[in-house]
Amino acid sequence: MNYLTHLECALCGKEYDATELQRLCPDCKRPLLARYDLAAARLAGRDALITDEPTMWRYRPLLPVRDERYIASLGEGFTPLLRAKRLGAELGLSHLYVKDESLNPTGSFKARGLCVAVSRAQELGVREVVIPSAGNAAGAMAAYAARAGLGAHVFMPTDVPAPFRLECQALGAEVTLVDGLITDCGRAVRESLETHDWFDVSTLKEPYRLEGKKTMGYELAEQFGWKLPDVVIYPTGGGTGLIGMWKAFDEMAELGWIGDHRPRMVTVQSAGCAPMVRAFHAGDEFATPWESAQTVAAGLRVPAAVGDFLILRALRESGGTAVAVPDDALVEAQMRLSRLEGVFACPEGGATLAALEVLLAQGWVSPEERVVLFNTGTGLKYPAVN
Ligand SMILES: *Cc1c(COP(=O)(O)O)cnc(C)c1O
Repeated sequence: MNYLTHLECALCGKEYDATELQRLCPDCKRPLLARYDLAAARLAGRDALITDEPTMWRYRPLLPVRDERYIASLGEGFTPLLRAKRLGAELGLSHLYVKDESLNPTGSFKARGLCVAVSRAQELGVREVVIPSAGNAAGAMAAYAARAGLGAHVFMPTDVPAPFRLECQALGAEVTLVDGLITDCGRAVRESLETHDWFDVSTLKEPYRLEGKKTMGYELAEQFGWKLPDVVIYPTGGGTGLIGMWKAFDEMAELGWIGDHRPRMVTVQSAGCAPMVRAFHAGDEFATPWESAQTVAAGLRVPAAVGDFLILRALRESGGTAVAVPDDALVEAQMRLSRLEGVFACPEGGATLAALEVLLAQGWVSPEERVVLFNTGTGLKYPAVN
């Protein structure tokens, strides 16, 4: 049983057919969101809907793949929610947690989104997928394309760390190196689409990566006994995970699985690329692109996000905030998180700890609150940082 009904533009609300391949809303060029018959799902009840599968596919009735033969799974999701006792003690927090996404296939939470996007694309007839990426998204796409038997094409900047490139090549993707930034890779992808019948799975430019990432919200609820934490600190690039979790909380409330309590959502970015932080504090609805973006945290080097208004909306509706931390602080925090909790964090994960310290100093987080840091990937792929 699957409850997917249709797609809806996140900005103008116009509805679209979910049985056809869709990208952005053709009218306003903004993301489409997958919608489900939550009233019917509510009647079925939580216990009947969640399977005992130890992956994110335990929430399969609320994910968009209709025929399970198309699920190209590598065991993604349902990652550990670790109690961070030593780090918590050092910071004076009694309920600090790390959601450790480094255990996902290909070592980052990009696996969640790309697993769903690739599976659903194949279900809708796609044979080859393409992505511009300066980091983890490319490897995840390559892995799921290999698993599903689809052709994979990756456009990466020439200066991307070697492990990211080698991983894609090992997984059978065709890698094109572009002399420039991720935005130049995006342009190269658009050009390639003029002559190739490939499907572009860039973040939020198709509706289903978001669905994969929303499972982090379902997992947080389940792992906390259906009572959401007080604060979630999330390293934000395109914001898919943050938007996805916020969507999951709304869905679960409509399903009757959780009550009214919501975490305050916190966006962390590098001071070298902080368009969301700037827009949040300026009170803007949309973000202006960041010039000369620079940071070691590749996942945070996103100068402009198509889902900017959804990130800002979630931060405001939740009573959350946005924090920028300099690269040296996030790298130092990456090492401290790794040393104290036994999780070799990525620099993006380190950024969440650096932001938490800023928020503690401001009194924005209090000692007894339940705080979750997202370690979004493994530190193993970033040799230049250390
Ligand atoms: C992509 C990425 C991010 C940013 O994720 P979004 O959901 O796109 O904001 C953070 N950390 C890592 C390790 C990433 O690869």
